[in-house]
Amino acid sequence: MQFDYIIVGGGSAGCVLAARLSEDPTVTVALIEAGGNNDSLLNRVPTGAALQIVRRNKCNWAFSTVAQPGLGGRRGYQPRGRGLGGSSALNAMIYLRGQREDYDGWAAQGASGWGWNDVLPYFIKAERNERGANQFHGDSGPLNVADLRSPHPIAGLFIQAGEQAGLPRNDDFAAETQEGVGWYQVTQKNGERWSAARAYLAPARQRSNLHVATDSLATQILLEGKSAVGIRFDRRGVMHEMRARREVLIAAGALQSPQLLMVSGIGPQAHLGQIGVEPVVDLPVGDNLHDHPDITINRRVANSELLGFSMVGGIKLLRAMARWRRERSGVLTSNFAEAGGFIRTLPHLKRPDVQLHFVIGMVDNHNRTYHWGHGMSCHATVLQPASRGTVRLASNDMHAPPLIDPAFLSDPADMETLVRGFKWVRKIFAQPALHGCQGADRSRELHFAHVDDDDAIRQVIRERADTIYHPVGTCRMGSDHRAVVDTELRVRGVERLRVVDASVMPTLISGNTNAPVIMIAEKAADLIKREAH
Ligand SMILES: Cc1cc2nc3c(=O)[nH]c(=O)nc-3n(C[C@H](O)[C@H](O)[C@H](O)COP(=O)(O)OP(=O)(O)OC[C@H]3O[C@@H](n4cnc5c(N)ncnc54)[C@H](O)[C@@H]3O)c2cc1C
Repeated sequence: MQFDYIIVGGGSAGCVLAARLSEDPTVTVALIEAGGNNDSLLNRVPTGAALQIVRRNKCNWAFSTVAQPGLGGRRGYQPRGRGLGGSSALNAMIYLRGQREDYDGWAAQGASGWGWNDVLPYFIKAERNERGANQFHGDSGPLNVADLRSPHPIAGLFIQAGEQAGLPRNDDFAAETQEGVGWYQVTQKNGERWSAARAYLAPARQRSNLHVATDSLATQILLEGKSAVGIRFDRRGVMHEMRARREVLIAAGALQSPQLLMVSGIGPQAHLGQIGVEPVVDLPVGDNLHDHPDITINRRVANSELLGFSMVGGIKLLRAMARWRRERSGVLTSNFAEAGGFIRTLPHLKRPDVQLHFVIGMVDNHNRTYHWGHGMSCHATVLQPASRGTVRLASNDMHAPPLIDPAFLSDPADMETLVRGFKWVRKIFAQPALHGCQGADRSRELHFAHVDDDDAIRQVIRERADTIYHPVGTCRMGSDHRAVVDTELRVRGVERLRVVDASVMPTLISGNTNAPVIMIAEKAADLIKREAH
């Protein structure tokens, strides 16, 4: 029970750290993961996540937020991956990086060493893009990035409609410019989901210097004075301790990393006192929570090739299962959000402020409200939200969920951006390319058919908007006195302790967050190795 490095959390970041650090046979590494191995068929079939995302199960923590005034007092839903691969075992597999300006913004805010030119080599190092290598892409990393094997024709029509609405065509959102409409690339290989666990951990798992403990919930960081020396964890009801000779690395995600720090006494002193946790280091852990708010517009389309519920659809699904088993292609390889785009919703903006995800099925309430029939939908997402919330403790016990308050739409600018995004989706849906498939017919819109003016749009946004699953920022990296971790991701004021995951992002990147988290962990592994030598 003594290792050089202990990593808490086997998600996107944790799997990268475990694989990279254990490349050195002279060091020993332990990875502690609360969930299981995530190696069932549902974890491999790309569409399998649809069943897991909707409710709490062994792959999904399925948290709720506290009541959100910006969402009319509703509590938001926060699915989070559990088990090896973490959220990369549950996500929609879209491969994106955000915008150059996001990272240059990090550096300008004090995260020196994390500007675009600093992080690009780590994106490239991580990536194995099936299109091959170029100045933006890698072809020899662990993370397989592929074009969809069986893209749906209606997603192609959406792209055409986007062009008809005046957007440029973009064939690579992860290259020079993000603006435009096009197909998303996905983290898949041979028609299977390519989670961080499959990409990084599986090839490393046989190493004798790597110990992976699943079903193990870290309940406390063990501190001696102000130095991290190990972890206490609960494995199937029995408490254990593990000691770290060099460092403890927290990679439990943007909601649970701050929770673990706080239950261990690292966090806002006044709050810890209220919860009955002895404060050790006073830091603004859990502040700066932000997430991408999102509204989804659904239209019914009588096309049983789209994902949905019908007798014919059921028969087609059985055929699709056989096809996937036989040749790893067909609709089961869909990532749902097959196409999308990035829009500047105001002419003076220098970069896109809204992202679109076009989905080949209706998505109502995170797919938790089912509708008989078939349809399509499009999400509009605020890329650079101004609202900031918190993660706080409900109790000093890690078994209890934290209090999650993304403060959605608390900054009015986010609401206005979402209204403009909503109107852009309508504009694209109205284009001739979608006439033939009923997609342009407003009366087929779920919930919103009679919503027209901006006030009515604001009202439905309050009633229906929620996350697109990218919480970040709760252990903010920086060089100022309010930062939680420094630019080498070391927790300020505590020795031998780092946070390496989505929580260190100073500001949310403009896109989906899996590849950026993997980049963060790739860079962190290099920093840790360099410091050790
Ligand atoms: C439904 C959904 C769809 C998404 N779609 C996309 C997408 O298409 N593209 C994209 O780029 N991004 C997407 N994302 C976001 C992306 O997957 C995440 O940002 C990323 O995986 C976060 O990585 P992480 O390492 O910070 O945390 P996670 O991957 O969530 O890993 C945290 C891990 O820590 C474990 N853990 C937590 N607490 C403890 C503890 N106390 N002890 C031990 N283990 C613990 C958890 O079980 C989990 O395995 C999506 C996310 C979700 C939930």
